[in-house]
Amino acid sequence: MLDYSEQANWENGFGQIQSPINLSTNDNQHLADYLPIHADEFYQLNTEIDDHTTIRLLGMGNASIFERPYHFQQVHFHAPAEHVIDGQVNPIEIHLVHENDVGQTVVVALFPQLGNANPDIQNIINNFEGNHDHSVSLKIHHQINDFQTGFHYLGSLTTPPLTEGVEWIVINNSNLTVSQSQVDWFIQKFGKNNRACQPINQRNIQYYHK
Ligand SMILES: [Zn+2]
Repeated sequence: MLDYSEQANWENGFGQIQSPINLSTNDNQHLADYLPIHADEFYQLNTEIDDHTTIRLLGMGNASIFERPYHFQQVHFHAPAEHVIDGQVNPIEIHLVHENDVGQTVVVALFPQLGNANPDIQNIINNFEGNHDHSVSLKIHHQINDFQTGFHYLGSLTTPPLTEGVEWIVINNSNLTVSQSQVDWFIQKFGKNNRACQPINQRNIQYYHK
């Protein structure tokens, strides 16, 4: 089981392009456009896995990311968030992991803001608590569509084996909300499962916004 209090000692056989990182809307290469991403209206989630550090749900769905086709693979949660944006740590970060036919990975990160309880997340929590195995869907279209702003950079998985070459799309204008009690549920269940921000080094980070 992953021990986040020992994360400084996680074995990292890779190099200098690790994730997460600190992102700034001021420091990056600005592109006056929305992120070129679109997704199916729903991702169907099938198997819900307790990996003792988060909930991971496997599923199916399709997305076009930078006009390349990707298949949705799984979604999981980090609380508090891993990427820091303009110095702000969000309460939760959702990772939607996608892969294409030659095995390239794109993770789309979303940051729900504190507010009303999120019904999809509540379904996932209820399912988890009840040990039910019925399928859940995740309404995704309004989160990955023609009007998202955010960051695009090359990094790594944020859990061992910390594999590099992972492309990140970090959306900063999600209108998702999550309630404080939902955030508390994750932290109580799994402890804080956010990896600390890593050095940016020589990376180019693009910021798409209109
Ligand atoms: Zn993750």
